[in-house]
Amino acid sequence: MKIAAVILAAGCGSRMGAGKNKLLLSLGGKTVIEKTLDVFAACKEIDPIVLAYHENDLAFCNLLPQAYPNLLLAQGGVSRTQSVKKALNLVPDDCDLVLIHDGARPFVTPEIIRNCIGCCQKYGSAVCTVAMTDTLALVSEDGGIESYPKRESCRIVQTPQGFRLKEIRYAYDCISDTESYTDDSSLYAKWISKPHYCAGSLSNRKITFMEDLSSMNVPSYRIGTAEDLHVFAEGRKLILGGVEIPHVKGLKGHSDADVLTHAVMGALLSGADERDIGFHFPDSDPKYKNISSMRLLDEVMRLLAKKHAELVNLSAVIICDRPKLSEHIPQMKRSLADALHTLPENVNLSATTTEGTAPDTIRVTASALLQRG
Ligand code: MG
Repeated sequence: MKIAAVILAAGCGSRMGAGKNKLLLSLGGKTVIEKTLDVFAACKEIDPIVLAYHENDLAFCNLLPQAYPNLLLAQGGVSRTQSVKKALNLVPDDCDLVLIHDGARPFVTPEIIRNCIGCCQKYGSAVCTVAMTDTLALVSEDGGIESYPKRESCRIVQTPQGFRLKEIRYAYDCISDTESYTDDSSLYAKWISKPHYCAGSLSNRKITFMEDLSSMNVPSYRIGTAEDLHVFAEGRKLILGGVEIPHVKGLKGHSDADVLTHAVMGALLSGADERDIGFHFPDSDPKYKNISSMRLLDEVMRLLAKKHAELVNLSAVIICDRPKLSEHIPQMKRSLADALHTLPENVNLSATTTEGTAPDTIRVTASALLQRG
């Protein structure tokens, strides 16, 4: 028995507010549509997969067959209904069954798909559904509740939905170009027969709005980078990463001139899409005079927490000819790790020289990887 799949990705995602097709947004390192295709590609029973795409996404979709060799591309129509119709026309005639699936349901599993195939082989149709957990109300336009349908008699309809290819093609051929359906089983019910339902899953959610993506617990990662430079000055302590380093000179600055901590704060702010430290802690403000930069770092960490941004790891390079820093690195690591609420292994520090080109300065460059959950 030959089984094809039609996957719909031809909507423009206007409800999403992302300014582009929601299926091309990232979901844990891959686009939503690739996540969906991965699941279908893993089911060897299915061949080929027909993807209905939006014409704006042609350049992206043209690359997909490299990763999915049994993928066929069908340009979508003006409505979901028209897109399905066009995609069904591209399914090879020798296919017996076809599963139709919304590309915006990337959490479909091989188990759901096989369940749908099994039901379709047995009954000729298979509509994935889940039971209702909330009470249902039938309402009227004037704001009144008319009746309460029995919850046990209702199920939430999902995709995939499986049909005999000839029958669902016939059903689609019966409708005019202007008719629009949100779901294939209702069309099957109208023109062919009463469809059969099978078990979907609550986890087989549909991504509709931007909040859906962020609530799906897929972390996004942001890199921040920053650099700082201070010149040596007589009569000051040398503080690096909150640690006092024995040296004949300190660094010139409005605060304690902890150039390492400044670069670290800069990298964190950069990764959190915040303005730089000069904006947050202006050196024209007397309250920052001689302040410990570690206190400013505490403020930056509070700001990150407010933005739900968490440090994954930090890497910094300290560039100076004197003093020699290697023996102080473990202590600076621990000090910064404490302030950053992380383990020392997540804070890497290295040191190098200026080869005599800038003997009067210490320069630090830092990068931070942040996770936004
Ligand atoms: Mg500075």
